[in-house]
Amino acid sequence: MPPPTPVLVADAAALDANVAAMQALADAHGVSLRPHAKGHRAPWVAARQLAAGATGVAVATAAEARILLEAGVGDVLLTTIPAPGRAAELAALGPPGALTLVAHTPALVAVLAAAAADAGRTLRVLVDVDVGQRRGGAPTPEAALATAAAVAAAPTLELRGVQGYDGHLQGIPGAAARAAGHAEAMARLDAVVVALSGAGLAAPLVTTAGTATAALAAAHPSVTEIQPGSYALMDHRYAAIDGVAFTQAAFVLTSVTALIAPGEVIVDAGTRAVSTDLGAPLVAGRDATWVSAGDEHGRVPGDVGDLRPGDVLRLVPSHTDTTVVLHGAVVPA
Ligand code: PLP
Ligand code: MN
Repeated sequence: MPPPTPVLVADAAALDANVAAMQALADAHGVSLRPHAKGHRAPWVAARQLAAGATGVAVATAAEARILLEAGVGDVLLTTIPAPGRAAELAALGPPGALTLVAHTPALVAVLAAAAADAGRTLRVLVDVDVGQRRGGAPTPEAALATAAAVAAAPTLELRGVQGYDGHLQGIPGAAARAAGHAEAMARLDAVVVALSGAGLAAPLVTTAGTATAALAAAHPSVTEIQPGSYALMDHRYAAIDGVAFTQAAFVLTSVTALIAPGEVIVDAGTRAVSTDLGAPLVAGRDATWVSAGDEHGRVPGDVGDLRPGDVLRLVPSHTDTTVVLHGAVVPA
């Protein structure tokens, strides 16, 4: 019987090759690897990454933190600045010490410190630094230092280091332009590291990078940890980026349900099965395209004249991070 579709699957061999390649990169530069799990949301994938040598995982939402903490991952970093209304829930999540949060202002630090006190716990905190992405990190060394000092002064918080994610650089296709942008981003991160150490504040963890900047970041002297995510499953947006050489591991399997014209079929993957925020998915192995035909339907014109209802096509997502939320988590192929 064909598999139930639509479903987001990962090819284990391709996944393992990607996991090994990124771990080798981190090892070669003596930095730790904390894979971002937002693209897979799957304890079975995290287990493979940890077995290969990752020191923990990163997550983007409280729900993802819960999934991985409940699966027993002992070091989870929530990389998103939390809304104050989430503080109580986050402070109590998982075993004590397993979750690290980020903060960007002394005001948020005060909220987290109070939530940790209420939970009767010590919370580990990184200062989130804006290295050019402009989505809320501390914008200057002074702002980062004030935030770090507030963490250090709070009895219920432990200052663990700094985070400076360079999301604005990930989509730059050319390697030279990306490297130039990276140098600017790391100068901003370094200025914060210098300011903290000048003030006598220890920041042992300096974490940054996505799939397109992991190699640059691993080679940067002040960086101690890289946090790329998409490399594990890959998507066709990243495959088009110069210097990103990982294997496509994630596919949305979709069944042909109807034949509507010679060379045109309907499949059971619409926009509720594959994301389109970074473009349409590709059809693997065929000269055919996928076009949305609604929430539950896709139309596939092209080299499909041999297909019949029940035949299964593999779609390559443009963006795995947004496709996975439509499925809950990626499952083994
Ligand atoms: N770190 C943070 C803070 C992120 O938001 C993301 C992705 O959005 C990543 C790391 C992983 O980046 P990528 O999936 O581009 O490898
Ligand atoms: Mn993404």
